[in-house]
Amino acid sequence: MVFYPPPWVPKLPFDPPDSVTVGEFMKSEIYGRRPIAKSRNPFTCGLTGRTYTVEESQNRTELLAKALSKIMGWEPNADSPWDKVIGVFSFNTIDYVPVLHAIHRLSGIATPANVAYSAGELEHQLRSSGAKALFTCVPVLDTALKAAKAVGIPEDKIFIMDVPLHAPKPSFKTVDDLIQIGRSVSDLEPLRWVKGQGARQVAFLCYSSGTSGLPKAVMISHRNVIANTMQYCIFENGGRKKVGVDTQVELGLLPFSHIYGLVVVAHSATWRGDEVIVLPKFELTDFLRAIERFKINHIPVVPPIVIRMLSSKDILKKYDLSSIRLLFTGAAPLGKETSDGLLEIYPTWKIGQGYGLTETSTVVCSTSEDDICPGTSGSLVPGARAKVEYGKPGELLVQSPSVVLGYLDNEKATAEAFVWDEDGRWMRTGDEVIVTKAPSGNEHITIVDRLKELIKVKGHQVAPAELEAHLLTHPLVDDCAVISIPDERDGEVPKAFVVTPASAAGRSDTEIAAEIVKHVQDHKAHYKWLKGGVEFIDAIPKSPSGKILRRLLRDKEKEARRVK
Ligand code: AMP
Repeated sequence: MVFYPPPWVPKLPFDPPDSVTVGEFMKSEIYGRRPIAKSRNPFTCGLTGRTYTVEESQNRTELLAKALSKIMGWEPNADSPWDKVIGVFSFNTIDYVPVLHAIHRLSGIATPANVAYSAGELEHQLRSSGAKALFTCVPVLDTALKAAKAVGIPEDKIFIMDVPLHAPKPSFKTVDDLIQIGRSVSDLEPLRWVKGQGARQVAFLCYSSGTSGLPKAVMISHRNVIANTMQYCIFENGGRKKVGVDTQVELGLLPFSHIYGLVVVAHSATWRGDEVIVLPKFELTDFLRAIERFKINHIPVVPPIVIRMLSSKDILKKYDLSSIRLLFTGAAPLGKETSDGLLEIYPTWKIGQGYGLTETSTVVCSTSEDDICPGTSGSLVPGARAKVEYGKPGELLVQSPSVVLGYLDNEKATAEAFVWDEDGRWMRTGDEVIVTKAPSGNEHITIVDRLKELIKVKGHQVAPAELEAHLLTHPLVDDCAVISIPDERDGEVPKAFVVTPASAAGRSDTEIAAEIVKHVQDHKAHYKWLKGGVEFIDAIPKSPSGKILRRLLRDKEKEARRVK
């Protein structure tokens, strides 16, 4: 059955524009952004208070684009965008979005990478995306340099974003240096995009493993991001109007390298004139101090942060958090008990939840402020359609102007994930959902299970296939399978089942497990580490075609936990 947004969800006032870049859409009031004169400063550093007005941010973007044009030899309307890919490997900073939009100003493509990546992981992203330059920051510079060297990005094409408390390295150009360079470059010609170009041209390459296999570059068009920004804001404005909220102050803690932070925070908030208080990473006291100092109203987070808040009640009490109106989670399930636990301490807060994927440029459904049903992910945003049986768990298929173009250089994975039927093209989410009527009478979507292989650790993606391929490079691993197991703190963590070779005879399981765990720690981002442990097994259960039967391993794990 096909579901549409309920009648009370405001409609999109016009089709998402398809002949402009994301930056132009964000910049110009003619595309519906909140009037600049009535907007707050878009980005303010939550540690230092450094901030720019909308006009200053726009000027900085243009100057950055001029500098990049000079250094890279790129023109806005010449050459293929695939020759103008730039990696961004940094903590959130107030310059992050101006850097992205400067790349787009030259019709280039930005590929934002998770700052927790190891050099090997970053190398994979830079190589597969064809990045020609890299923006990074001092705390992760060593990793960035190793990866850049491996793919042949020279040091004069590595630029530093300013992260508070980390002095820049004199041998690299900083964003401020680029801005100075930009002042001496003559004006860039305006972009001359034709109708439809924004729907075809890639703005971002974000990485996701999709329903199976290794992380893949997801081709997210300009119009995809524009559409989801409009969909989410217009949906949320409906709720805001009812509670009488104009602009607000929002927390910018979610990594802008992940689609959730990139679209829901970095773009949506600023399009509707909100102020984003940028924090580079989660430190409980910095987080609470920033909420108190900047009187933050809206905190978009991931469920593990809510769990951390619940386990730190005594620390929370030391801060004035009365400005918070809405706490919003996404990227992983937030259980009813967790949101009820927080409401016990802060009964005036509203706790909302959204659901989406990298492949849908984020939000598919979300809770409206005036129709919250804890444990569910709310209603479809305007312009989205869902296909699933009513009242029965099943895989969710999504249609929306925010559904991405596909996976780069991977027709097979694209054909599997984006399917056609008599109702058009659908994105197979790999998530099992159920649509039911909430007490309010509205239909709500609840995510009940994940059918795909993906593991979500603190909201970050971990692809079992990636860990399995890595484990197989260890001499003490003959065969293996990685599954997700529930974790109180991180939501889920990976666990490996391992078959050892004959050469392992005589060595203790503890010793071998420690070696295997270290093998992952040495090469992979911390959230991919085997916190669920290693279990030795005689054979990995497989189908006749050789596919790992993860369900059997998950059942085995559930049974072992039940017995414990
Ligand atoms: P990503 O592409 O990293 O955003 O991951 C998308 C996946 O995260 C989805 O396919 C879901 O499995 C999971 N996810 C996102 N939001 C939610 C939510 N509200 N509840 C449960 N799972 C979620």
